[in-house]
Amino acid sequence: MPKLNLNRVSMPRQDPKERAKNFNEVALGYSEEQAKYEASRCIQCPKRPCVDGCPVNVDIPEFIAALHEGNMPEAVRALKNKNSLPGICGRVCPQETQCEEVCTLNKREAPVAIGRLERYVADWERAHPEAVEAPNEDSPKPTGKRIAVVGSGPAGLTVAADLVKMGHTVTMFEALHVAGGVLMYGIPEFRLPKEIVQGEVHFVESLGAELILDSVIGKIDTVDELLNNGYDAVFLGTGAGLPMFMNIPGENLNGIYSANEFLTRVNLMKAYQFPEYDTPVKVGKNVAVIGGGNVAMDSARCALRLGADRVTIIYRRSETEMPARREEAENAREEGIEFKVLTNPKQYIGNEENWVAGIECYQMELGEPDDSGRRRPIVKEGSEFLINVDVVIVALGTTPNPLIASTTTGLETTRWGTVVADESTGKTVKDRVWAGGDIVTGAATVISAMGAGKRAAADIDLFLKG
Ligand code: FAD
Ligand code: SF4
Repeated sequence: MPKLNLNRVSMPRQDPKERAKNFNEVALGYSEEQAKYEASRCIQCPKRPCVDGCPVNVDIPEFIAALHEGNMPEAVRALKNKNSLPGICGRVCPQETQCEEVCTLNKREAPVAIGRLERYVADWERAHPEAVEAPNEDSPKPTGKRIAVVGSGPAGLTVAADLVKMGHTVTMFEALHVAGGVLMYGIPEFRLPKEIVQGEVHFVESLGAELILDSVIGKIDTVDELLNNGYDAVFLGTGAGLPMFMNIPGENLNGIYSANEFLTRVNLMKAYQFPEYDTPVKVGKNVAVIGGGNVAMDSARCALRLGADRVTIIYRRSETEMPARREEAENAREEGIEFKVLTNPKQYIGNEENWVAGIECYQMELGEPDDSGRRRPIVKEGSEFLINVDVVIVALGTTPNPLIASTTTGLETTRWGTVVADESTGKTVKDRVWAGGDIVTGAATVISAMGAGKRAAADIDLFLKG
């Protein structure tokens, strides 16, 4: 057994002052030497808790051992056996609350940097495409069954990859002109380069899945029509793309964006590459972002990079309860984003031209824990104060777009608009229809959507093979 080495290799990153002015990737990735050193920290413990800590059960010790031995094609194979999107997961998965949290080393010191090693292996494969066996070499026997996958985010891509590997014929329908879901339109380039996302989408296509873009299911065809026109099963992975607002006075003023709209303009429509891409987006000087999750951090950091003088995160609980990844909140702070916690908007104030000019806020305090387990924020009466702003980005969460539920017969939905599906199989109450990812859970994580895709693929396969 290798000797215990407690010093985790930190991730090289762009300097905060520099990166706050560009959209290039913040984290630069390990060198070969750093990756091998970090891989040597894994003690290959017999219980392997990290594997169960991963929602798609990647054989983590196996890929780390291969990397340590310098057998990179084997490391790629071991990693991609369970995960078709490792370059994405290595960058955005919250490993600190999953595989790394349960890593045996975490009891003594810092856990093995599993996510960073995953990223290293995925990036090595991208740089050496000829070194790894073509995925189609031992194609499974075709079953003759056809599955329609609606949506090409992490849930849809995962279910598609697994089903083609089982011999089924899969068609993915995507509403947008590009596949990838939130990975393309939400998460910014400086955290997840779009070239990486498209590389992994192409990998899924190379396995044999067909991708049809610009196809809004519910408009061009309904789910019922897909089922009546030759598809044996349908998987719904359409995410949760409908933004939530607070419904407070002034929310319709000009200059107030939902985070969805703001990030779509900046990322998918490439407003950050103006004038090459002529996408209109108001670049505020004094920007407030409402919310404390990853979406809020991404919005704030985009606004800063577009040229804002001052960007403030306004969050109603304290930093302890903030749902954003710790690493991303730290990155944001380093870049100069200000945090105003225990603060909540009461109303927006407009100028004569109906543009937002200020936010009247309450100070908050924390009470007893609520249903989410976090301490409930309570308004401090008489604590109102004003913050001057010229752009506000509201990042308070999302729910599923009602299109699918309203055009499909026999689906059951919750009062939040999410589709009801069995947690362990993804099966909905409608015959031959499965669902997974944010459309079922509401806004969650990439890896939880992928885990749902994997479970649904296994159940669809079981159903189709009788
Ligand atoms: P989505 O990724 O939303 O994909 C759904 C796809 O379905 C989209 O491409 C959509 O266009 C398509 N679609 C919708 N309706 C139709 C229709 N009617 N017909 C055809 N296609 C349709 N998670 C993390 O783990 N780490 C992070 O750091 C992180 N950061 C995030 C930052 C932002 C800004 C956002 C918004 C989310 C972030 N998340 C993060 C959450 C994560 O991205 C989502 O949980 C995940 O993408 C959900 O996957 P999905 O496949 O269910 O849906
Ligand atoms: Fe290695 Fe940590 Fe997994 Fe044990 S739990 S096998 S030390 S990565």
